[in-house]
Amino acid sequence: MSILSLDVGGSKLLLARFSQGEIVEERQIPTLAHEGREALLKRMVELILSMKEDASSIGLLIPGVIYQNSYVRKCSNLPLNDFDLKAFIEKETGLSAFVGNDVSFALYGEWKKRGGHFNNVVGLFAGSGLGGGLILGGELYSGQGAAGEIGHMNYIPEGRSCGCGGWGCYESYVAKSGMLQRLEEFAQEGGNSILLEGRKSGEMLDSRVLAKGYKLGDSLAVELFEESARALGSAIASLHAVLEPDLFILGGGVVDDYGEEYFDEVNKWAQILVMPSMANTLKIETSMLKGKAGIYGGYYFAKGK
Ligand SMILES: [Zn+2]
Repeated sequence: MSILSLDVGGSKLLLARFSQGEIVEERQIPTLAHEGREALLKRMVELILSMKEDASSIGLLIPGVIYQNSYVRKCSNLPLNDFDLKAFIEKETGLSAFVGNDVSFALYGEWKKRGGHFNNVVGLFAGSGLGGGLILGGELYSGQGAAGEIGHMNYIPEGRSCGCGGWGCYESYVAKSGMLQRLEEFAQEGGNSILLEGRKSGEMLDSRVLAKGYKLGDSLAVELFEESARALGSAIASLHAVLEPDLFILGGGVVDDYGEEYFDEVNKWAQILVMPSMANTLKIETSMLKGKAGIYGGYYFAKGK
């Protein structure tokens, strides 16, 4: 009996079939979110049915606010707001469906892959945005539904604007959306950087280009790297004071592509900023599953954890 896991991303739908804990088949198609809800749901169902075979259940990862592993409350880049996705998928495919926030599922995947040993784990995933997830007391913690929005804790009052509608959030300094603001400001000031070469205004930054710029010593790339690592270290230090989790797990394109030097810099700032009497319990690791963490989380959920 196999289990499916579908990552419903802003640009692609990635479906994986798991057998005995490992991915045995994958298929990917573009999301085409601009075509609207009906078209998107039709594409999702067709993709799922094309790989259903002997599957009994499916996990669905959504980049948005999800209630009761079922209902999509808000999802800014997909036309699925206020929709009972679980009921729809179950009716159309005959599979048991479990819907979750993509970052929460990514943290869950990382946690289970490590054997689920720790009771309290905080996940921070830095890519275009800064996603957060919490496992408290051995369970994913979602508060009243939307908890874990670590990227939207305030870092700098009156700081950069943020995609959430607020100001000065950690996301605006750690993640690429914030780096992009600084880049455009820099371009307007007439600055020179290899990060500006061959790119169109407003286009999202590529983590690999950021990493390359940093390695080459480009001054703007070094500034963005240092600012991001310092902000992430600050977020970790503050969260450690509140939750003192057993482990922090860092992932996402920014963390993966910058590599070891970034991890060391984040760790350095977390150690500088952590409450001194709690410094000895601070433990940080990087993602084991990289870009597949969410897909694994969806699988573990659909499997019955
Ligand atoms: Zn925000």
